[in-house]
Amino acid sequence: MMNTMRAAQITEPGKPLQLVEVPVPKPKRGEILLKVKAAGICSSDLHYQDGKSKVTKLPITLGHEVAGEVVECGEGVKGIKTGDRVCLFYLVTCGECMHCCTGNDNYCEEAQMLGKNIDGGFAEYLTIPARNAFPFPDSIPFSQAALLTDAVATPFHALTRARVKTGDSVLIIGIGGLGLHAVQIARIMGAGQVIAMDLDQEKLDLALKVGATAVVNPGHDNAIDRVVSLTGGGADVVAELIGLPVTIRQAIDSTAVGGRTVIVGICPEEVGISPYHDLLLAERTLLGSADQSRVDFPVIIELAAQNRLDMSHSVTRELPLEEVNRGLEMLRKKEENLVRLVITFP
Ligand SMILES: [Zn+2]
Ligand SMILES: [Zn+2]
Repeated sequence: MMNTMRAAQITEPGKPLQLVEVPVPKPKRGEILLKVKAAGICSSDLHYQDGKSKVTKLPITLGHEVAGEVVECGEGVKGIKTGDRVCLFYLVTCGECMHCCTGNDNYCEEAQMLGKNIDGGFAEYLTIPARNAFPFPDSIPFSQAALLTDAVATPFHALTRARVKTGDSVLIIGIGGLGLHAVQIARIMGAGQVIAMDLDQEKLDLALKVGATAVVNPGHDNAIDRVVSLTGGGADVVAELIGLPVTIRQAIDSTAVGGRTVIVGICPEEVGISPYHDLLLAERTLLGSADQSRVDFPVIIELAAQNRLDMSHSVTRELPLEEVNRGLEMLRKKEENLVRLVITFP
C-alpha cells in the first residue's frame, strides 16, 4: 500500500476544496483502516464549505456518507475483518456514557462527526473505530450503501421517532436526498397515504415513482388546504426536511389533531408558534430528530438487502474525487434535478 493518499480538504472557509496528498492514517487500537469506495455529497458539506456550520479543525477532509472496504484492523478489533464491505455510522462517540449504552449514541456529549470534526471520506482511506462500521452484502453497491448512512438513516430515525403506525397518513415536506427515501420508509412502516410536498415538479414525479400516493406543489396549490382535504383533516405524521420558517409553519398547520410533527430540516431562526392553538388545543406533538443512531443501521441495511428500498433513483451521478468541487457547485445550483451525487473511487 502507498504511504500517501489523495484527500479533498477545506483549508479555508468559503474557498473551493483543495486536493492534497496526505499520509495514509494508521488504525489505532479498536480502529479499522477503510479503503473508501463511495462518499455522498450532502447539503451539509455546502454549509461547512461556506462556514455556515463550523468545522472544528482546519484543514479537514469532508465526507460523512461513507462506504468502503476494510483493508486493515487495529489491535483488539472484534466482529469486523479485512475484506468486509462496510458503511459508516458518522458519529464517533465515547461508547461508554449512558447515552451510548442505551442506543441513543447521537446524544453522546463527546460525539465527533466524520467530515466535520474529524477527517472524512473525501479521501482514499480513513480510520474509524470498528464499532462505527456496519457490514452489508455484495448485492448493495457501494454508492448506494454510502447513502444508507445519512440520506436513508436520517429519515428512518425521524419517522421512527414520530412513531408512524399502520394506516397513518404521512406528509413528507422536501423531496431531496432525504425526502425520496422518507417516502419509501413511511410506506414500509405501514403508512396508508404518503403525500410528498415540494416546489419542484420533477421531484414530485420521482416521489410518485417510489410510492407516494399523492403530491402537493405549494407553487400551484394551497398546500395546507390540499393536505387537509386529502387526509380529511391533516396528516397523522408530518416530516419537515427543509428547515425554513415557512415550511416548518406548513408542517405544523398540516398536522392532524393528535398528530406528530417531526423537524429534521436545520432552521437556526426562531419560528413563532402558539402553544395554545398549535399544540394544546390540537393535542399535537412537536418533535425534533437529530442524525441517527447506531441501532438504526442493521434495520436499514436489511431493508436495502431485501430490496424493500428502491435506491435505483438515489444516485444521480458518480464523480471522481478530482471533480468534488464541480459536484458541490452542481448541488449548490440544484443542477440536473439531482437526488444525490456520490464521489466514487476505483
Ligand atoms: Zn449528510
Ligand atoms: Zn457517549
